[in-house]
Amino acid sequence: MEKAKVYFTDLRTRPGMGLANKMLRLVKAAGIEKIDFQDQFTAIKIHFGERGNLAYLRPNYAATLVDFLRSKGAKVFLTDSNTLYSGARSNAVDHLATAMDNGYNPISAHADVIIADGLKGTDYKEIDLGGEYCPKPKIGTAIADSDIIISMNHFKGHEQAGFGGALKNLGMGSASVGGKLELHCSSCPKIDLDACTGCGVCAKYCHHNAISLINSEDGIHRKASIDYSKCVGCGQCVAVCQHDGAIIGENSSTKELNCKIAEYALAVVKDKPSFHINFIMNVSPECDCWNHNDAAIVPDLGIAASFDPVALDCACADLVNAAPVLGVDNRLSDILSRSAEHEEQQEWHEHKSLEEQHDEHEHDHQHEHGHCAHGRQHDKFHLMHPDTCWRAGAEHGEKIGLGVCDYELVKI
Ligand code: SF4
Ligand code: SF4
Repeated sequence: MEKAKVYFTDLRTRPGMGLANKMLRLVKAAGIEKIDFQDQFTAIKIHFGERGNLAYLRPNYAATLVDFLRSKGAKVFLTDSNTLYSGARSNAVDHLATAMDNGYNPISAHADVIIADGLKGTDYKEIDLGGEYCPKPKIGTAIADSDIIISMNHFKGHEQAGFGGALKNLGMGSASVGGKLELHCSSCPKIDLDACTGCGVCAKYCHHNAISLINSEDGIHRKASIDYSKCVGCGQCVAVCQHDGAIIGENSSTKELNCKIAEYALAVVKDKPSFHINFIMNVSPECDCWNHNDAAIVPDLGIAASFDPVALDCACADLVNAAPVLGVDNRLSDILSRSAEHEEQQEWHEHKSLEEQHDEHEHDHQHEHGHCAHGRQHDKFHLMHPDTCWRAGAEHGEKIGLGVCDYELVKI
């Protein structure tokens, strides 16, 4: 299979060539202008950051890209979908307020924000994918209806997927609340009887008449009850419950989660042009969905771009894995200091350039490709999140035609 090209630029700057300009030079070199943007609804899929998190992408990058895309005739907007968990982005009102506070507003980011799956996360379109895990991914309507998808992705660790990059931002980030339930959960939702107030909103929104209100054990309060012979696992009840009464059931395994994410990502870009940019900066151990960001584990490395989101994520993972661990206090240095692997890591990285490390990856890859255990002893994401296996998602992405794992790194 032909290798995909992944373009990479480091973070060195000079007068007149700041980081936003370098990003623009990168995406042009990677061929973004091959896409015809004229009069096309162009969604920039981006994570606006949870309140309190400061590792999310600066809106300045989005503003630069918006200006460029608009100069090409695009009808451009910024978008993300609501979260499954309760927080500052679980409905469109709170989500928009958080985005505005974090600088994603027309003044700073030069474009409007549209929350893709609507007020309560119930506005979605099913994409007929016939996937092995998700036959009909539920994608937020504003993203599903877009003509072109551009993903801008903060590349960092992720507690459930291993890392968050293009696949995670596209797949998980574009899913409606019900879609996120499908991704996370291998079973139907359940009712937390302590949290349920008996308000009945879930029963009203359940299109399968699977929910009824029954008397609780105290005989005073009423609680929601799910008839699992009728429930189809659509997640609508979780989306509309404002009391954390309807909650997700048993979690998917990490392999299954990553494979599902790949299928959702394919549903997002299916039959339309797409382009993807990863920012390997502030590589925090966990997702920007947290209301904090722990210290970065490696130095800021650069920006990478590609038409192929699978190759892009694989390249960025390899770059992070090849980088030295920051010597100051961080999650990974804590782990390594408790492990004999620390010494091995330092020897492995000493005096190696990015290109040399990439060559080494290619060698390893040829020998171990196809196995989840690929490079695990040197996989920083696996070290931080031992139960995760990001490569399963990349390989599934290759299998379903989303992209390829093998890449050629083009440094500009
Ligand atoms: S589960 Fe939520 S929406 Fe349903 S009755 Fe209980 S509190 Fe209301
Ligand atoms: S998941 Fe869907 S079908 Fe099942 S109880 Fe909730 S709203 Fe009804």
